[in-house]
Amino acid sequence: MRHPLVMGNWKLNGSTLMVNELILALRKELSGVTGCGVAIAPPAIYLDQAKHALAGSRIDLGAQNVDVNLSGAFTGEASADMLKDVGAKYIIIGHSERRTYHSESDEFIAKKFSVLKDAGLIPVLCIGESEAENEAGETKSVCARQLDAVLNTLGAAAFENAVIAYEPIWAIGTGKSATPAQAQAVHKFIREHIAKQDAEVAKQVIIQYGGSVNAANAAELFTQPDIDGALVGGASLKADAFAVIVKAA
Ligand code: PEP
Repeated sequence: MRHPLVMGNWKLNGSTLMVNELILALRKELSGVTGCGVAIAPPAIYLDQAKHALAGSRIDLGAQNVDVNLSGAFTGEASADMLKDVGAKYIIIGHSERRTYHSESDEFIAKKFSVLKDAGLIPVLCIGESEAENEAGETKSVCARQLDAVLNTLGAAAFENAVIAYEPIWAIGTGKSATPAQAQAVHKFIREHIAKQDAEVAKQVIIQYGGSVNAANAAELFTQPDIDGALVGGASLKADAFAVIVKAA
């Protein structure tokens, strides 16, 4: 039985003041809410502060990135063990912003997936097509290629206790979400693609939708059978909007 997971990706936003205020507000908004996993991924520099602010709440901590190296001369990076050490549970990898601005390849992202599994952390693997790929009818082949980078190296078992976030790039930060039917069709394809290797793993893997999810459109998206919660960018910076999304899930 899958439980939905709603996770906030704060991206490059925050300050010590904002981290405390937003977490305090989220704790109030979400007290007593059950039945849905909830996590927030603040910038790495605020993870330790966020862990303390979240103590005793049911909101889990996530991170936005991980390095493929475990330690050593890799200036500016954070390792899987470091993220675990500061209390992170879910780690976003393969976000389109990292694929684009940091030229991260499918193979490099698969390596991150592997490093996270080895550390006992839960990868949140973002996949999804650009607008041009969507218009060219390449959505499924792009998603399959991005999944295959993990499936062909680690096997379907790697998706046990992992999360996939389908995030069409044209929907991220644009205010133009995929329709529930559009998203459902891709989520179903993703599940079927994994089922070709392992039906049980495919049945239990959480597949979030991401891309302009907000308080107004979340409930309809979550009526779809293969949409298991959301990865939320902009709306995760407002406690009231994020809480509406969590309650809808
Ligand atoms: C994201 O960046 O993961 C995202 C889904 O952003 P937004 O909700 O702002 O579209």
